[in-house]
Amino acid sequence: MTDAQALVKTLDFQLNIQSDNESLLYDATLEARRVYNETIRLAKEGVDWNAIPDRVADDAHLVKNTTQRIVAKALGAMENYYEYDDFGLPSHTKDGAYPLRANYKEGYNLSLTDDGDVAFRISAKPYNHVKGVLEGSDVHLDILKSALESDGWKIGTAEALFHNDNAELHVNVTNTEQTVRGKLDSRTVVGVDVNEDNVALTALSEDGVEDTLVIGFPEIKFERHRYFTMRKRVQNAGKDSTHDTLEGHKERFVRDRLHKVSRHIVEWSQQFEKPCIVFEDLKEMRDSIDYGTRMNRRLHHLPFRALQFCTSYKASFEGIPTGWINPEYTSQRCPICGHTERANRNKKRFKCKDCSHQGHSDRGASVNIAVKSIKKHQKWNVPALNSLPQVQKVRRRASGAVDAPTVTHPTARGYQADGRMGVSD
Ligand SMILES: [Zn+2]
Repeated sequence: MTDAQALVKTLDFQLNIQSDNESLLYDATLEARRVYNETIRLAKEGVDWNAIPDRVADDAHLVKNTTQRIVAKALGAMENYYEYDDFGLPSHTKDGAYPLRANYKEGYNLSLTDDGDVAFRISAKPYNHVKGVLEGSDVHLDILKSALESDGWKIGTAEALFHNDNAELHVNVTNTEQTVRGKLDSRTVVGVDVNEDNVALTALSEDGVEDTLVIGFPEIKFERHRYFTMRKRVQNAGKDSTHDTLEGHKERFVRDRLHKVSRHIVEWSQQFEKPCIVFEDLKEMRDSIDYGTRMNRRLHHLPFRALQFCTSYKASFEGIPTGWINPEYTSQRCPICGHTERANRNKKRFKCKDCSHQGHSDRGASVNIAVKSIKKHQKWNVPALNSLPQVQKVRRRASGAVDAPTVTHPTARGYQADGRMGVSD
């Protein structure tokens, strides 16, 4: 009856491969391509599909279950063609690398090292393994580590492949205990407006504004979007990692902030009944005429999408759904009367040209995001708003242990409330 979903994720990593194993993995992906082509060729020749797996496996220089996976993928492509006939007949003449598909604990294995890394072992060829450690975003590494340590997770198949000459591993994981509530089944919508120096939140229910909050983080400003550049270890010059460099330090600082802010958003949202956290979908921004200085500034001053994704991941682990809306006019619409005009907004001040409403413009935008989401996703009505509560502001502490691990459970730990502050007039 609901649109609840199992929590399934594909986690992407780069492979930091030990010694000279990289060519072994590359050879295996070429062999995977040959197996794929051979399967397609036999199927086109009219060979009985039931006979194909054995026939191909006899010659394949790959681990058996990996061969089976690739054959199944190729036959699946043929089946699709016969069924739908709209993608063109799969070709058996392509060359180059093909993803090496493997079952967990058969074709590949993962384990936690004493250093807190995740080690991998991929059976590239029979009795020939490629080993090393995984590298990637903290979000994906965190999830994988949870999956390795917890019974509530199932690690599934993975694909080893080369992307822009880099070896990668894409791992499927399923959380067997947690489902994410369907977003259509929400009682509170939390609009999240991400800016270059703060995040504004407003929780709206059918009864009106439940609460509102602005989280400031001025120190992140100068860091820009380094977050998504994966940490690649500096393997030469005797350096083991970038950790000791200034850049590495700054990068960890931003990541640390993002994790704390995103955790704060999720925990704040959890106090409300059946929350759904809603963001602006910037993909919809490209064609929008609202793409002005404000949007540019936001995009260039903060790992904007990183914060959205980080929050969305953390929310899903709490069973909280996330929604996305078109950002058009969210910053120019009056949250009280709906009057929309560019001149309404002047930096952090919003002054409606139609009604008398004045207020914090980012908070106003978060109201508008929530309103849009209610219209888009919910069956209940947007509440009538006559006024907005005072803006409560919290600010990330300027100093603080940047290097400290951030995994403990931390309601508002590390936050310093500035107290309730009125909207400056
Ligand atoms: Zn107005």
